Amino acid sequence: MITTVRQLDYGTVCGTVKALTARYRFLCAAPIGQSVQGRNLWGLTLGSGKERVLIAAAFHGQEWLTAWVCLRLCEDMCRSLHDHTPLCGWNVRRAMSGRSLVLVPMVNPDGVEIGLRDAEHRWQANANGVDLNHNFNAGWQELQQAERKKGIVGPCARQWGGASPESEPETQALVALCERGDFRHVVALHSQGEEIYWQYGEHTPRESELMAMTMAAASGYVVSSPTGLASHGGFKDWFIKQYHRPGFTMELGKGVNPLPLSDFEKIYEKAQEMLLISAFL
Ligand SMILES: [Zn+2]
Repeated sequence: MITTVRQLDYGTVCGTVKALTARYRFLCAAPIGQSVQGRNLWGLTLGSGKERVLIAAAFHGQEWLTAWVCLRLCEDMCRSLHDHTPLCGWNVRRAMSGRSLVLVPMVNPDGVEIGLRDAEHRWQANANGVDLNHNFNAGWQELQQAERKKGIVGPCARQWGGASPESEPETQALVALCERGDFRHVVALHSQGEEIYWQYGEHTPRESELMAMTMAAASGYVVSSPTGLASHGGFKDWFIKQYHRPGFTMELGKGVNPLPLSDFEKIYEKAQEMLLISAFL
């Protein structure tokens, strides 16, 4: 297994991407952009079908475990495609026919690195102190007002939406990826709570709730509605608003961020089929 989690940092992500593409020649890896500090935002593509799905992870510094969930899923799907073996009982080759999956395991590598070096401040933002999941152009003004009420008015460890929507290179990279990707739906991986969010405003597609319920049935996760500060500015919010297509946030695992490394196998096992199905739906 390439994706046996020993270390959590950006360098290990790069090494893992390299090892995966070396073993599975059909897996394509290319940066979708760079972080504030110049780290690559890796994108991994499986398949070449026109029905495209995006799964992105580690938007928040303390949520590095979601990057490993993303990479493990990638390895499991690659192995299944390569060896013609089922995964969770699914014939991945047949299920992926006409489809492709783009995985961005670490949207916020700088934040992960800061978080690993400075556990005390519970860093979630990027290197500019902007919370990427508050920086997307969906209800950004409303979110900024809510931030101000909480006394959040500038760069900090979490929940500041930045000076303007899409001000950050990581946000811009995901927006540009969606502009060229024509994704049928997107999934953002966060932690924690074992929940699936699927709503954003009037443009939420009809099928979103049923899709969320299907994914929840595969994992035991709960289908949830947003409240408070979690309700604007996120990637899935923007995707729904922009494209009127389904977008989901999955909150992986349960506990206090950063979830411990020892939780990884348990979290992955519970979420595996849900994530697989999210690529097939
Ligand atoms: Zn998060």
